[in-house]
Amino acid sequence: MSERDRRSAWPEECEFCGTPVAARHGHVVDTGRRGLLCSCRACFLLCTSCSAGEARYRAVPERYLWDPRSPIARLDWHGLGIPARFAFFVHCGTRVTAFRPGPAGAAEAALPPGLWTELAAAHPLLATAEPDVEAIVFRGGERGTDCFLVPVDVCYRLAGVVRRYWTGGEGGPEMHEHVGELFAEIGQRARPLR
Ligand SMILES: [Zn+2]
Ligand SMILES: [Zn+2]
Repeated sequence: MSERDRRSAWPEECEFCGTPVAARHGHVVDTGRRGLLCSCRACFLLCTSCSAGEARYRAVPERYLWDPRSPIARLDWHGLGIPARFAFFVHCGTRVTAFRPGPAGAAEAALPPGLWTELAAAHPLLATAEPDVEAIVFRGGERGTDCFLVPVDVCYRLAGVVRRYWTGGEGGPEMHEHVGELFAEIGQRARPLR
């Protein structure tokens, strides 16, 4: 994302206290209206310390993880109802919702009953994600399926890139290039799950 895009996409001040923030800053999920708020360090830390239980504002953790011990061989994208071969999954309250980024934003996709439980039993990374503030992203490729635990704000970036660059019926080469860059960045930041 260019600096100009970032500016139009994000305000340059903390949405809690109005303090100016750097281009790279923390985010807080408002679980009341299901949105993401830009946050200065002080407000981020305040939300971190009060993020337990039912708090409305929950700080988005900064960890990226992958699991070298149980890679996901191949996902059945058609069985998942996800034709684009990448998607993210977030625990909202007690249920898991799949989001399928597309030209009109990230559409919610229903998961076949029991599928997530089955996947999570075999892949501990999926069960490690904190509800509301962390997500699991999948991306299908030639060699299998990449799977990462990421801060949920990364999914907003992914959805933004897809919406902005999508052309034609399947997204087009430019969109796939940008999505590839974002996944390369995620792969670089990810640490192995212990
Ligand atoms: Zn603040
Ligand atoms: Zn922000």
